[in-house]
Amino acid sequence: MKFDVVTLFPELIMDSVNHGITSRALKDKKISLKTYNPRLFSNRKGGQIDDHPFGGGPGMLMQAEPVIQALKEAKKNSSNPYTIYMTPQGKPFNQSKAIEFSKKEHLVILCGRYEGVDQRIIDTEIDEESSVGDFVLSGGEIPSLVLIDAISRFLEGVVGDPKSVETDTFSNGLIKYPQYTRPELSEFGDVPKVLLSGDHKLIKRWQLKQSLLKTRKNRPDLLKNRDFSEEEEEIMEEIIREDES
Ligand code: SAH
Repeated sequence: MKFDVVTLFPELIMDSVNHGITSRALKDKKISLKTYNPRLFSNRKGGQIDDHPFGGGPGMLMQAEPVIQALKEAKKNSSNPYTIYMTPQGKPFNQSKAIEFSKKEHLVILCGRYEGVDQRIIDTEIDEESSVGDFVLSGGEIPSLVLIDAISRFLEGVVGDPKSVETDTFSNGLIKYPQYTRPELSEFGDVPKVLLSGDHKLIKRWQLKQSLLKTRKNRPDLLKNRDFSEEEEEIMEEIIREDES
């Protein structure tokens, strides 16, 4: 997967990706990453690329010309680029979007700054606007790093054990069950006995129940339109019975 990021702060992107799983993915050539700075495409003094919005209002906007030139440079020689603008006005980015984007060959990601970007950039160069949540950050760099990290996890060979991605939170529409490692007994509490029982069927049922309990507590919205399996329905009834007693 090829990532190209158009940003006023290239170091912010490169420094962050050079750690952990994404750094290994770069080394192993599972992903490639390049940055393009719109300042280098400015013909104004000091590489200035911002200006006041027409019609008034606070703040500055990134200008169309240098940003579009940087985007065009990133897409040059690419047969199939897909261009995403990070913005709080975008479609929500989530695990299924990460899977969808992981199937593209080449993602070009635009990071805004200031009040955002001139609308003509969106109209002419952007395939999709994407938001990492219902809050406003001061730049698109952290959101674009969120995308690169979440998408990379779905590329073959990036996460050591593919099972760990398959069992992650959201993969089955639920929050993952609690996990424990050694020691079994400690002053902070003991590991639930069932996990030490060796009874895989019992352990699986316990994990599913914990997933349902935690999802109900922290993310009831995920259960609203869920197509419950028979086993899940039975466990939910058990949870409700336990609540009432
Ligand atoms: N004035 C804009 C917000 C600009 S925030 C508005 O009201 O919609 C500055 C830049 O930060 C944006 O251009 C965008 O690239 C980035 N950004 C801020 N919040 C974001 C979010 N939740 N998701 C993705 N990008 C975001």
